[in-house]
Amino acid sequence: MISVKEAQSKIQENSRILNSVSKSVENALDQVLSEDVKSPIHMPPFSQSAMDGYAIGSQGNTFKLVGEIQAGADSSGMTLKSNEAVRIFTGAMIPNGTFAVAKQEIVEKNKTEIRITEKQKHLQNIRPLGEQIKKGDIALPKGTVITPGTAGFLYTLGVNQVSVTKKPNIIILSTGNELVPPGQELSPGKIYESNTYTLKTALKKFRIQVTIKTVEDNYEATKKSIQESLNECDILITTGGISVGDYDFVGKAMEEVGVESIFYKIKQKPGKPIFFGKRNSKVVFGLPGNPAAALSCFYLYVTPGIRKMCGISDVSLEKRTLKLTSDYTKSKNLTHFLKAKCYGDKVAILGAQSSAMLSSFASANCLACLPEGQSEWKKGDAIEVYILP
Ligand code: AMP
Ligand code: MG
Repeated sequence: MISVKEAQSKIQENSRILNSVSKSVENALDQVLSEDVKSPIHMPPFSQSAMDGYAIGSQGNTFKLVGEIQAGADSSGMTLKSNEAVRIFTGAMIPNGTFAVAKQEIVEKNKTEIRITEKQKHLQNIRPLGEQIKKGDIALPKGTVITPGTAGFLYTLGVNQVSVTKKPNIIILSTGNELVPPGQELSPGKIYESNTYTLKTALKKFRIQVTIKTVEDNYEATKKSIQESLNECDILITTGGISVGDYDFVGKAMEEVGVESIFYKIKQKPGKPIFFGKRNSKVVFGLPGNPAAALSCFYLYVTPGIRKMCGISDVSLEKRTLKLTSDYTKSKNLTHFLKAKCYGDKVAILGAQSSAMLSSFASANCLACLPEGQSEWKKGDAIEVYILP
């Protein structure tokens, strides 16, 4: 049995970053750049007017109006003399010889001349060539997550294709004779199968498609299903059948199909009987069957593994340190992860903490972490919580 921290670091050590794939930027949302993106252009690609106004040839105050430059027009062949000005618009290319752009609000004009009512500084209201980024400079480093903001920046540079780390193929395999899919009639002795649906829903936040499989509590069938799944996926998540019951076949089946055990059991509640192993580059999480334990373990252990494989450097759920709203007592030997609700700088531990109950998860927004080695907390004590995504 290992500690929570040891388990978390073993998962990081044993999960590899997946290969990269070329994708259109619009289809790469939330994925991670697997290479630096260098800017193929200077941005802006030419010196631009930042205002609607007049490009003026010197710091003087009256100028002869010699023309007009609209956004999109090529004025590279034009040179202003010191007594000349041109009408210019935001985003338009400034002509050679421009001292500054005077915004139109400070300009008086007649047909042939303009007069500036405020003194202009050199290069005022001009966005210089390459002000934002120079051609060949790194626009976004490897490891950057594609967000609307990063995508937008890439588009402004004309980049619409990027190399990103692949997303893992995931299979969730549920075990248990007692399980019936939601929507069907429950016969005596049966319960609804919720784990695969819950985890599939949680994975939607990662925009990861999953394949769901189910198997009865039968050793040969479990072995076959695990074997087949390992040939098809990068990450296999099983639920149930990993404890010590006579019909818990997952651990033995894993061993039989060549999965190397990295750890089994974490000093925690809920979810003590959790298995993590690997076969070559594939990793396997054997989650407990109890629904609340399965979901807690998914957030605490599976998501950091997925994030690592996706190339994300910050793998953990967001952590905050908050003040307890009431006293709490637990046994010293295990870390407890408790469904909780945080608001402001406070956190309240919810009722119904049994690993078989999801009702408290339904109103939780975080998991409070009460570490092993301590058994008592007083109202107002600071504790760490993991914010649920
Ligand atoms: P197990 O670890 O297989 O003994 O399962 C522990 C508890 O979780 C039992 O009460 C199971 O009925 C329940 N359970 C296991 N798998 C699921 C599932 N996929 N959905 C809902 N409950 C489950
Ligand atoms: Mg079972």
